Amino acid sequence: PTTEKSNQAPSKVKEKNDPNKQYSNERGSDKDHLYIVVIGHVDAGKSTLMGRLLCELGEVSQRTLHKYEQESKKIGKQSFMYAWVLDETGEERVRGITMDVGRAQFETKTKKVIILDAPGHADFIPNMITGAGQADVALLVVDATRGEFESGFELGGQTREHALLVRSLGISQLAVAVNKLDTTNWSEDRFNEIVTKLKIFLKQAGFKDSDITYVPCSGLTGENLVKPPNELELCKWYKGPCLLDVIDRCNVPVRPVSKPLRMSINDIFKSTGTGFCVAGRIENGILNKGDKVLVCPIKELAEVKGISINDLASNVAFAGDQVSVTLSGVDMQNVSVGNVLSDPVQQVPVSSRFEARLVVFNVKVPITKGYPILIHHQSLVESANIVKLKALLNKSTGEILKKKPRCLGNNSVAVVDIEVCRPICIERYKDVKELGRVMLRVAGVTIAAGLITDIYDT
Ligand code: GDP
Repeated sequence: PTTEKSNQAPSKVKEKNDPNKQYSNERGSDKDHLYIVVIGHVDAGKSTLMGRLLCELGEVSQRTLHKYEQESKKIGKQSFMYAWVLDETGEERVRGITMDVGRAQFETKTKKVIILDAPGHADFIPNMITGAGQADVALLVVDATRGEFESGFELGGQTREHALLVRSLGISQLAVAVNKLDTTNWSEDRFNEIVTKLKIFLKQAGFKDSDITYVPCSGLTGENLVKPPNELELCKWYKGPCLLDVIDRCNVPVRPVSKPLRMSINDIFKSTGTGFCVAGRIENGILNKGDKVLVCPIKELAEVKGISINDLASNVAFAGDQVSVTLSGVDMQNVSVGNVLSDPVQQVPVSSRFEARLVVFNVKVPITKGYPILIHHQSLVESANIVKLKALLNKSTGEILKKKPRCLGNNSVAVVDIEVCRPICIERYKDVKELGRVMLRVAGVTIAAGLITDIYDT
């Protein structure tokens, strides 16, 4: 089935027994939806690039652009004009950085693309985890300027950490914008140098060469974003697709529409009418207006009073959709971010203890039994402990190297048990990928990523 959407045309007959049929009927002839997360070191030019792309595609009105131009001149930061298209709050403008996951969208030949803009600062990585957890593909932006690529990539910059994170969050398709190439006079040698370095690293991080495309471009001048390059120096050696075409060629994953409903809540707000709204992404299944859903782990039944997708009312939403849902029958006070809307019969597992297969990135002190961590699971952050080290594995074969290891060092792969301070909604990775992943952080640093392999009764 396609993942297309028609927000206006509700189907008269709900074909609940044949979800796939309902799915294709509802989606009509619209374009596939593709969610993209933008990652990279701070100042790599992510916001400028996406802002410019939206402007080139006519997604931003002349009036708005003019307003940004005037405002940016006023505070003497005119180069930030395009970035503002994505950065909405005043504080971000003053600081000149993107803080939260801003939303914007545009269309390619075959797809509707929803951008989850990721922030570049190290302390905003929890936000990025939320953004990346919802994305199908990642756009990695690197600054080609001499010295800048190096500091973003080699000297403890975020290029590496972001790439590792998105891979751990299950993203396998990557477009790499080798950005600001205008500062090197469109040097082919510089482009190749960067591509060579990234290729080695991205392979180590678990990306396949065939799933990565490198595009030389400049967000500031708009070169090679939505149409073939004009720059003579670039035309001389680059014959590949522009950024928009690279995005267009990405694969939209098959959405698990026929599995039981799972929607993880990442925002809660008051609605204008009765009830209140929760926002999030439907990971599994289908949600219809009028459905009864179970809010977990609190296990309270709620009724779906309304659904909206991209601010348009809809009678139905499918796996892969970002939605806000109006609920009634449950007290807003009792619902929190990280709760899951579940099928009332085939319920999401709730537990505070699980087994995970960890990939350890970076730890100052080796992980030992009892090690305290923060786990990030979708939008949820909870304190937890690694309560058992069960086995150390061979990184490439997965064979057991050692049972009950005493500690885990950098770059190790291991099976551990984790105990969370309270019960949360989790799934085994093999059942529901999106709810089966956790990130482990300590003192603001991501130390490991894990896949949930078993869930214990607690
Ligand atoms: P972000 O932190 O990755 O979102 O980066 P911004 O988009 O805020 O850009 C950081 C700085 O780099 C700003 O001063 C931009 O004007 C500048 N910049 C962004 N893209 C380009 C580009 O393609 N070429 C040049 N020369 N400068 C750029």
